[in-house]
Amino acid sequence: MPVSTPFTGGCACGAVRYACSAEPMMSLNCHCRDCQRITGSAYSTVVGVPAAKVQFTQGSPQYYETVGERGTSVRHGFCPTCSSPLVALPSAYPAMMSLRTGSLDDPSWVRPAADIWTASAQPWDTMNPAIPKFETQPTEEEFQAILA
Ligand SMILES: [Zn+2]
Ligand SMILES: [Zn+2]
Repeated sequence: MPVSTPFTGGCACGAVRYACSAEPMMSLNCHCRDCQRITGSAYSTVVGVPAAKVQFTQGSPQYYETVGERGTSVRHGFCPTCSSPLVALPSAYPAMMSLRTGSLDDPSWVRPAADIWTASAQPWDTMNPAIPKFETQPTEEEFQAILA
């Protein structure tokens, strides 16, 4: 994805700011019910980056945990002041942090590589027919193919 590092983002009120010093590993549109509830919308576009390369440069997110249908947990970071969703830490991929794309200062370079959890997508949701679809979570091999 065409982005120069570091790239930055933050919440709606400005209390929490972050900078990522590594290039993104991938971007996905997740249509799961948790993402629908968290974003208040049809789906969430996330950018996966190496967790160790994200620094909170101002404030820090508050976290809560959800447990998905597969039994793996995800820690969600949000601004304690304005409650904007910022990041997610999936326990299944401990080296990765997902950035909620809307929190980026410039989300225009993001190129989602796949739609996941399409089985939970709403009937009024629309998707790009040109990218791969996964009814639930991609398998490890499928995930690696997306990353490649
Ligand atoms: Zn905020
Ligand atoms: Zn999701």
